[in-house]
Amino acid sequence: MGTPTLDDLLAAGVRGERVFVRADLNVPLVDGQVGDDTRIRAALGTLRRLLSAGARVVLASHLGRPKGERKAELSLRPVADRLGALLERETRFCDEVVGPKAESAAAELRDGELLVLENVRFEPGETKNDEALARGFAALADAYVNDAFGTAHRAHASTAGIARFVPRRAAGDLLRAELEQLGVVRDPERPLLCVLGGAKVSDKLAVLEALAPHADSLVIGGAMAYTFLAARGDAVGRSLVEPDRFEDARRVEAAARDGGCRLLLPTDHVVVHELAPNATSQVVARVPEDQMGVDIGPATARAYAAEVETARTIFWNGPMGVFEMDAFAQGTEAVARAVADSEGRSVVGGGDSVAAINKLGLGDRIGHLSTGGGASLEFVQGLELPGVAALEEA
Ligand code: ADP
Ligand code: MG
Repeated sequence: MGTPTLDDLLAAGVRGERVFVRADLNVPLVDGQVGDDTRIRAALGTLRRLLSAGARVVLASHLGRPKGERKAELSLRPVADRLGALLERETRFCDEVVGPKAESAAAELRDGELLVLENVRFEPGETKNDEALARGFAALADAYVNDAFGTAHRAHASTAGIARFVPRRAAGDLLRAELEQLGVVRDPERPLLCVLGGAKVSDKLAVLEALAPHADSLVIGGAMAYTFLAARGDAVGRSLVEPDRFEDARRVEAAARDGGCRLLLPTDHVVVHELAPNATSQVVARVPEDQMGVDIGPATARAYAAEVETARTIFWNGPMGVFEMDAFAQGTEAVARAVADSEGRSVVGGGDSVAAINKLGLGDRIGHLSTGGGASLEFVQGLELPGVAALEEA
C-alpha cells in the first residue's frame, strides 16, 4: 500500500479546502528570535504548492519541550513571522492550538491564505496522542498533510492521531523525499555499507542488530567501537564503554558473521589522557590503560574510506570521534570526504553526523541528509513509522 502524496492530494483539488499541515519548525531560538531558519526554509516547498493551489493552510508544529504547558519563550509566533517573510505573504497567527478561537481563525481563512497555530506541545495531550486533542485538530481541517519526518516515529496527536478523523491525507514533499531516500537503504543497490558511530551502543543497538544481517559491510567508529572491542577482550583503557552491552555487541558480531556481513572495528586510535581540546594526543594500535580513545586513527580512517569507495549504497549515522574538538575530528572528516566523493547513493542521518558534514561544507555533495535522527534509524530498521502508517489507513 503506497503512502498518498501531496501530488495525489493536489491532483484531486484543494481549492477552498482547509488543509492542516504538520511541519517540523522546531528551530533554535536566540533571544526570542529565530536562530537558524533551515527548517522553516525546508517547509516552504509543500506550503507554496498548497497555497498556490488555493488551499487554506492551517500550519502546526512543536517547538522545544514545553511539556504540556504554555511557555511564552517557546511560542511559535517568531517562527510564524519569519515564515511570513520567507513566503512573502501575510501570515496569520492564532495563540491557541485548538478550540473555538482556532476554529474561527481557520474559518476566516480565504483561499491561498496561511494560519499558524501556537506550539502544539503547549497541549499536554499532544505527546500522549490524546483523542480529544486529535479531534480538535481535525475540526480545523478538510485534509491533513504530514511533512514532519523528524517526529514521524512518534504517535502524537498532530503527527498521527488527527489522521483518523480527517478524510483526505497525504505525505508532504519533505516526508516523501525522506521515505524515498531512506528507502534506498532498505532496498539497496549492493554493496551496502553502513557506517555507525557516535557515543553509545545502547542508543543504537536496535539499528545495529537490524543492519548487521542486512548490510554487506558494517563499519563501526566513535565511542561505540570501544564497547565492541572490550567485548572481544581487547584493551580499551579508559575509553567510554558500556559493560552491560558486551553481550549485545557479541550478538551483533555473530549476526553479522552469520549474515555474511563484514564488520570492521578500528585498528588504530587517537588517544588522550584527558578529554580537552588541546590535550596531547598520540596514535596507537592498543589503547594504553590510562588513556582513552577519542578518534579513529589514520590507518582506520583510510580503511573506512576505502570501504566507502567500493560501496554502491552508504548509510552513515554517528561521528567517528569527538568531532566537536577539531583535534579529534579527522576520522569523521576522512569518512565524510569519502562519502562526498562516492558515486554511490549516500544517506546520512543523526543530528551530530549532519552537523559534522555541514561544518565541513560537504552538505551539497551528500546524496541525502536526513532531517530526522531517531526517525531515520527506525525507518532503516524496517519499522513502520506511526506518522506514515496513519496516512495510509483507510
Ligand atoms: P548522531 O547525533 O549523529 O546520531 P550521536 O549523538 O550518537 O550521533 O553521537 C555523537 C557524540 O558522540 C558526539 O558528541 C561525539 O563527541 C561523541 N563521540 C564520538 N566518538 C567518541 C569517543 N571516542 N569518545 C567519546 N565520545 C565520542
Ligand atoms: Mg546526537
